[in-house]
Amino acid sequence: MDGPAGLSLYLHIPFCRSKCGYCGFYSCPQEDFRIHKAYLDQLLREARIMLEALRPAAIPSLYIGGGTPTVIAPGLWDEFLEALFSLLPGGPAVPEATMEANPESLTPEHLEVLARRGINRLSLGVQSFSGRVLKLLGRRAGEKEIRSALDLIRENWSGRLSLDLITEAPGQGLREALFDLEQGTALRPDHLSLYLFTLEEGSAFFARPPKKKVREDLFFRGLDFLAGRGFVRYEVSNFYREGAGEKAICRHNLGYWRMEPYLGLGAGAASTLPGRFPGGSPRRRANPGDWEAYLEVQNFFDFAGEEGLSPGDFLTEYLLMGFRLLGGIEKGRFVRIFGRTLEDCLPDWCARHGKAGDLEAPGPVYRLTERGLRFMNPLLREARLELDRLEGWFSPGPGSPEIHWP
Ligand code: SF4
Repeated sequence: MDGPAGLSLYLHIPFCRSKCGYCGFYSCPQEDFRIHKAYLDQLLREARIMLEALRPAAIPSLYIGGGTPTVIAPGLWDEFLEALFSLLPGGPAVPEATMEANPESLTPEHLEVLARRGINRLSLGVQSFSGRVLKLLGRRAGEKEIRSALDLIRENWSGRLSLDLITEAPGQGLREALFDLEQGTALRPDHLSLYLFTLEEGSAFFARPPKKKVREDLFFRGLDFLAGRGFVRYEVSNFYREGAGEKAICRHNLGYWRMEPYLGLGAGAASTLPGRFPGGSPRRRANPGDWEAYLEVQNFFDFAGEEGLSPGDFLTEYLLMGFRLLGGIEKGRFVRIFGRTLEDCLPDWCARHGKAGDLEAPGPVYRLTERGLRFMNPLLREARLELDRLEGWFSPGPGSPEIHWP
């Protein structure tokens, strides 16, 4: 049987130097070389088995995230990446291959190995240039380590670069927030992500939130600042540098927002895969977030939980992800997948929000307006409620749509 035409790969590294207070990702402090080696060996086994089972024709993007991939020694990455790329249909010729890095563990040896082994994009977790904010967030790297890491990158890295920043941290003022953006943009990265500070479930802050007040206009002030510095917003929290062009858009994340298939490997990683579930919706595969259990896995098919998405769940997710893109959702692809227009799927919701100026459908796309983007979450909750009332979207019935995906 032929596999999907394109399947992106995500590899999860659950190890860090220490745990940040705001972190809700599956990650834990772990610096033992032997454990790192055993984990990468298991990742390779899982990759081999899953790629043999799925047989994708091409890998459009690879993303190694975490956690902190650079907590693992460069020598281990050298062996691992060589073996991983040899399993991929196009070998090391993956158009976009990203690794996340943190300033406290990135070394010149990492950069040399990554470039030689086909990683062509680095995503650096800076979060802030202010010592006060870094300390509040519980980041391991301070200002000095961040400056050193950026010098290192400037001197030793010719691939693409993306920086992550956080805004609206508790107690952060306008000057402090704009200083971060000033510093971040002065480095002329190809790409920048600006995330809102949030209280993530499972984080230390969720149980004990910082007492300092949050200024809720900083994100919007940041948007103006970034536009003035030539950074083009293409997704709610993501920007590319105008001079770098649209090729600087993160291809891998674009795949998530467009609901393209991807395979997640490693403890805590999820996948969205073509399935044979009733109605043709995708299947969601998820490995438990337990690296110790992952090291013991004999049969990866038994380890992962798997379920088919109902057409209603799939449509809800499709809108939730697709409307994050400022360019919106392509009408042609939408109709091909769902067999009907958005207006046919959600007639009342479309009429109401079209009239209110939240939703527009110019030419070949559906998209949220600036006002719609501000109220995206309640808006999409309403869409879900309307869908809940319609027959056939969540259980097979006369109105059940046939899904043609991917
Ligand atoms: S925020 Fe990043 S560096 Fe901090 S604990 Fe979480 S995954 Fe690790």
